[in-house]
Amino acid sequence: MIIVPEAAIADLITRANAFTAVEQVFAAMSSGDAYNFPVIREAIGHEDALYGFKGGFDGKGMALGLKAGGYWPHNMERRGLINHQSTVFLFDPDTGKVAAMVGGNLLTALRTAAASSVSIKHLARKDAKVMGMIGAGHQAKFQLRAALETHQFEKVIGWNYHPEMLPGLAEVAEEAGVPFEVGDLDGMVEADVVISITSVFSPIFGAAHISPGTHLACMGTDTIGKQECETDLVAKSTIFTDEIAQSITLGEAQHAVKAGLKTKDDITEIGAVINGKHPGRTSDDEITLFDGTGVGLQDLAVAASIVDLAIEKGMATEVDF
Ligand code: NAD
Repeated sequence: MIIVPEAAIADLITRANAFTAVEQVFAAMSSGDAYNFPVIREAIGHEDALYGFKGGFDGKGMALGLKAGGYWPHNMERRGLINHQSTVFLFDPDTGKVAAMVGGNLLTALRTAAASSVSIKHLARKDAKVMGMIGAGHQAKFQLRAALETHQFEKVIGWNYHPEMLPGLAEVAEEAGVPFEVGDLDGMVEADVVISITSVFSPIFGAAHISPGTHLACMGTDTIGKQECETDLVAKSTIFTDEIAQSITLGEAQHAVKAGLKTKDDITEIGAVINGKHPGRTSDDEITLFDGTGVGLQDLAVAASIVDLAIEKGMATEVDF
């Protein structure tokens, strides 16, 4: 069994590796070669923690396993540990024997950022110039960094409910050599691509804030009840997602579906676009919305890539298990 501890991940995987792994697994999901198992998420009644498992099997990339982990809201204040904690376990699909244990914290941020970037590559207008960020928390910085590596933007505008968090985003833009402006939500009409990555349960923006032709990646809504954008915007957008079953139950589309404004048949898996089975964006005026709900197969794909890199670079710890 190979062990790759959390501390080793940053030196092993690049954003480009994560992007390729996620793009390939979305394609495999859409062609029926890979599927996710039902998600388990439990409030365990201890430390106010939410704990669960996201797993799946990718018969093309030959990755089988699960990510175990969740959210411990008091970790930082009580123990100086980050609140999100997770670990990925990979198994040999031929034998069921455990194959690897990989730190899942940085991996989660990288695979989530890779998902929105894959959507930008396949759905944004090629002439997109202005990148808009709604949200400036932990994930937002990874999202922006990956987006700026995926497409050549000329400017970033950022809005956050807690403005004191925006300098973190500005730093990321600066590192990438792209000018950053603090904006208000009305200013998002200037953006050609918008990523929203907040933890809100009631909408903070809607159709009035997003111009025709924009590609919107809604990445914050990954739980029943969460909602970042008004249903009027979802209703007028062409929706793409990682997994339709998640999009309609716990993703951004859940509310529009509940309200009868969209059905599951209105939603396309991004894998179909990657595989060339769906044209994706069909006009420069269309608002495309990627409902990035986060699936276990993303974690497995990136973990498998990390294990390969660890072996290749001689950084894998092997344990007889
Ligand atoms: P974080 O706590 O670091 O940041 C939270 C963000 O939400 C900040 O921008 C904060 O200002 C904003 N926010 C909080 N309360 C708000 C309010 N009342 N109004 C407006 N904005 C508010 O969290 P994070 O780790 O960056 O995660 C952000 C979201 O992304 C969470 O909902 C998380 O569950 C989700 N997430 C999704 C995926 C996925 O695959 N789709 C993966 C990881 C995390």
